[in-house]
Amino acid sequence: MVPKCRRCRVNGAEVYLAHSNLSLCPDCFMLLTERRVRHTIEAYKMISRDDKIGVAVSGGKDSSSLAYILNSLYNKLDMILIYIDLGMPEYSKHCLEKVEDLTKMLGRELVVYSLEKEMGFTIMNLKSTIYGRKPCSACGAIKRYLFNKIAFDLGLTKIATGHNLDDTAEALFNFYIEGNVKSLVRLKPYLPKTHPKIVPKIKPLIGLTDMECLFYAEYRRLPIRTLECQFSRGSRSVRRKELLNMIVEKIPNFKHTFINSHYKRILPLLEQALKDQGETEIYDCPACGMPTSLRGAPCHFCKIVSLAKRGEMKRIKLEGPQ
Ligand code: SF4
Ligand code: ZN
Repeated sequence: MVPKCRRCRVNGAEVYLAHSNLSLCPDCFMLLTERRVRHTIEAYKMISRDDKIGVAVSGGKDSSSLAYILNSLYNKLDMILIYIDLGMPEYSKHCLEKVEDLTKMLGRELVVYSLEKEMGFTIMNLKSTIYGRKPCSACGAIKRYLFNKIAFDLGLTKIATGHNLDDTAEALFNFYIEGNVKSLVRLKPYLPKTHPKIVPKIKPLIGLTDMECLFYAEYRRLPIRTLECQFSRGSRSVRRKELLNMIVEKIPNFKHTFINSHYKRILPLLEQALKDQGETEIYDCPACGMPTSLRGAPCHFCKIVSLAKRGEMKRIKLEGPQ
C-alpha cells in the first residue's frame, strides 16, 4: 500500500526527503519546495521590491525551476531571463529551444548572448586548444564574466543563478581540499556588490538538492533539456558529487550540515582573516575595464579570449565565485 503524504494525509506519497525523513505527495512537495525557496530568499534578504533581476538560464532543471519559482512567488518583480549560447553543436540549440519555451510559459523577456557572434569563438574552439583537457573551468569563467557584464550593461541590480545544495557542497568540498580560501569566501548564497561594476549574485536554490530540483521541474512540467553537454560526463565535479552522495547514503543530512556549519561557523572567521591580510582588493582589468582580482594584469576572461583567438590555451588558474 502506498503511504499517505505526511502533510495533507490524503494523497499518496511519491517523494521521500531523506534529510527530513518526510514522505510527500506531488502537490505538497511543490508547495514545500516553493516555501523553502522563499525562506532562503528572506533569510539572506536576497530580493527587494525595486530590484531588476536577471535569471541566468541554461535549459537545465535548476535554472528553469528557479525562473518558475521566482515568477510565481514574486510575479510583480522586474525580471528577465539571460541565456549564453556557448556554440556547442546540437546541445546549445537544444538548450535555447527549452529556454525559449520557458520564457513563453512565464511571459517574460529573454536576452540571448551568442559567444560566436559577439566574441568570434565557441567553447569548441577552446576545446581544440587545451591539449585534450575538458574546457569546463574556462567555460565557467566565461559564463561568470558574461552574466555579470550583461547584467551590468542592462542596469540589472541582481543576477539569480540556479546553483543548488549539491553544487554548493561539491564546490565547498573542492575548495577545502585545495585550501582555496579566496574562493571559499566568495562562495556565498548572496554575494553583495564589492565593486561598482560587480552585480550582486543570489542563489535562491541553495537549500534544494539536485533531486528536489529535478522532481520540481518534472512535476511542474517545465521545458528542460534532455541532452547533456558532451564535456559533463566523467568530469571532476561529477565525480566529487558522486563521492558526496556515497556519504549521504550513510549520513542523510551530511550536505545540509556541511553547508550550514561552513556558513554559520567557518565563513565569518575566514572573511575576517582575509580582511586582516588585506586580500580582498579588486582591480580594473587593463584590457576590458571590468573588475578582477589580478593586479595590473588582464582578467581571466580577457586571458581566455586572447589565448582562444591565438589558438593556444595554456594551463591558467581560473578562480571565481560560482
Ligand atoms: Fe561548460 Fe563543462 Fe558545463 Fe559543458 S560541462 S557547459 S563545457 S562547464
Ligand atoms: Zn578583462
